[in-house]
Amino acid sequence: MKRSLLKQKTVMQIGRDYHCEVLSQPLLADYTSIGIGGKAPFMLLLKEMKSMEGLLNQLAGENLPRRILGRGTKLIVRDEGVKDIVISLSKLPTAPRFSGNRVSVASGYPISRLVREAAAKGLSGIEFAIGIPGSVGGAVRLNASSFGGCMEEVVSEVTLFSPGKGVIKRKKSEIGFAYRSTSLGKDEVILSATITLKPSSSWKIQKEISYLQKLRRERQPIGQKTAGCIFKNPPGISAGHLIDALGLKGLAFGGAVVSKKHGNFIINRHSSTAKEVLALIELIKEKVYKALRVELEEEVIIW
Ligand SMILES: Cc1cc2nc3c(=O)[nH]c(=O)nc-3n(C[C@H](O)[C@H](O)[C@H](O)COP(=O)(O)OP(=O)(O)OC[C@H]3O[C@@H](n4cnc5c(N)ncnc54)[C@H](O)[C@@H]3O)c2cc1C
Repeated sequence: MKRSLLKQKTVMQIGRDYHCEVLSQPLLADYTSIGIGGKAPFMLLLKEMKSMEGLLNQLAGENLPRRILGRGTKLIVRDEGVKDIVISLSKLPTAPRFSGNRVSVASGYPISRLVREAAAKGLSGIEFAIGIPGSVGGAVRLNASSFGGCMEEVVSEVTLFSPGKGVIKRKKSEIGFAYRSTSLGKDEVILSATITLKPSSSWKIQKEISYLQKLRRERQPIGQKTAGCIFKNPPGISAGHLIDALGLKGLAFGGAVVSKKHGNFIINRHSSTAKEVLALIELIKEKVYKALRVELEEEVIIW
């Protein structure tokens, strides 16, 4: 039998063994918020968290490289797609478990939904994440932040799969949180997080949430196809303000355009390709460097 056919049979079987939905040749554009990207050979949509460890061990044992997809809101996938198997966590139904001020939540859970559920229980501290469209796992991995709050402030522990070590726990002090990053290894997979919040009145929290949602609507191109902020903020300055100051809002390359609302967002305006978005990113970097001698660094993850 041909190697590719053998591999296909193996992946299908592994997917079935670990109760995943298996998609062959999925178009990753359909799984990213910017709506861009080529295919993966397979996508395994995990349906129960307890299968994760076995699945990851099995794929490693068969020498099948994999990537983890949260909700695809920080990703630009190249037009050629990826060669690795993509494991999606978006179908994990697990509800968060609240106990006193703490909540334990599976990594595929939408972070904004968690904010609302915490608010309903009178738990405060994670309101800053309202409107962040990603998963808890993605938010922890990238230390998502907004409106002065960040994941580092609320995460007390994560459970993760670490190749060679299996499922382990890491305390906040061992996660190495930094600006838009953590020190977690490239192949480590976050399975769940424990978040510690503070009691407050649901009414007060709701008021804060509504206020932050209003700010977000005013400042960000919500409802458009984007991948969040493209660049990290250089120390002490906002990348969006630099882009704005140079008059680059509205700058376009093919179907990709710099948002007129927020200079750090690129919108897939009409059927943009990854190539066009990446060319626009390069163009912005070039112009900012030429005018201000500031080197912008991508925050968005490129696959
Ligand atoms: C309109 C809009 C507004 C946004 N606003 C904000 C904002 O205010 N603040 C902010 O910080 N971000 C913002 N973002 C970006 C994005 O939503 C966050 O970075 C989010 O945390 C990404 O989560 P995700 O599940 O979509 O990750 P994905 O895009 O799916 O993945 C991103 C990276 O994390 C890895 N990853 C995902 N899950 C896991 C896991 N369980 N274990 C290990 N690795 C994992 C992936 O492999 C990939 O490398 C915004 C995005 C959009 C589109």
